[in-house]
Amino acid sequence: SIFVGASLGSFPEIISQLQAMSGASERIREILQDETEASGGEKITGLTGALAFEDVAFRYSSRPEQAVIDGLNLEVEPGQRVALVGPSGAGKSTIFSLILGFHRPGAGKVTFDGRDATTLDLASLRSQIAVVPQEVLLFGGTILENIEYGRPGATKEEIEAAAKEANAHDFIMSLPEGYATMVGPRGVKISGGQRQRIAIARAILSDARILLLDEATSALDTESERLVNEALERLMKGRTSLVIAHRLSTVRHADRILVINHGKLVESGTHDQLVAMRGTYRLLAETQLA
Ligand code: ADP
Ligand code: MG
Repeated sequence: SIFVGASLGSFPEIISQLQAMSGASERIREILQDETEASGGEKITGLTGALAFEDVAFRYSSRPEQAVIDGLNLEVEPGQRVALVGPSGAGKSTIFSLILGFHRPGAGKVTFDGRDATTLDLASLRSQIAVVPQEVLLFGGTILENIEYGRPGATKEEIEAAAKEANAHDFIMSLPEGYATMVGPRGVKISGGQRQRIAIARAILSDARILLLDEATSALDTESERLVNEALERLMKGRTSLVIAHRLSTVRHADRILVINHGKLVESGTHDQLVAMRGTYRLLAETQLA
């Protein structure tokens, strides 16, 4: 549980993203290794946001006996809103790691606009993917810098516009030094909901085509939740979004729900369709989604 926000590309952020998604810091060395190996692919711009998994299989090298992702097929169309649900340990966070190229499939492929991710330049690919993790940790610096990270070189006006869309501008202006307020480990403490809105502003600024959102499990207060949800709605509009969902309201709004279990796609459809199937989803909806 850590910092993070939008477009990737540098080591600190990649590490934070990974920690944010998995909570496992011992993997950093492994990632850095992957990073140095992965370079030189085709630089890409202007993705439409279509992505697919084709017969993807994956095992962590530290635990070769476990097929974490096991013949996974899925297809997401540009602009679609997809919810991933499944029991803890099903492989949802690993799917995000594979999309971000933190790990490569042992078999099969991940594609963007039909192109095998292994042939693409990782940094340019990641610049088109925004991530909002469960727990946002900001880095030491000003709020302005934390948002600007989404698109280095953005103007103050662009940063403020993104903050407004993210429902963050008003609380930022109420802080003693506004956008110049220092946050992060040694800075001013701001709430979880406020940090999420900073991460959303960062993602809006990056204008990434693909959004990966790991929904917070811990509840925010009602007002904060309303502001975050409103900001997320704006962020998801026009972008392909994959949401690891923990709330019933999120899955109800998804175009499609993918139910993951033991690294496989076991059911897919809308909430109503899946409830009618009386399978894994229905059980999850009754016991884990609130
Ligand atoms: P979910 O997000 O659905 O809870 P994860 O993708 O985090 O599932 O984990 C899927 C499986 O992979 C789990 O059994 C988990 O213990 C295992 N796993 C996750 N990360 C690692 C890792 N770095 N090394 C070994 N096993 C891992
Ligand atoms: Mg997870």
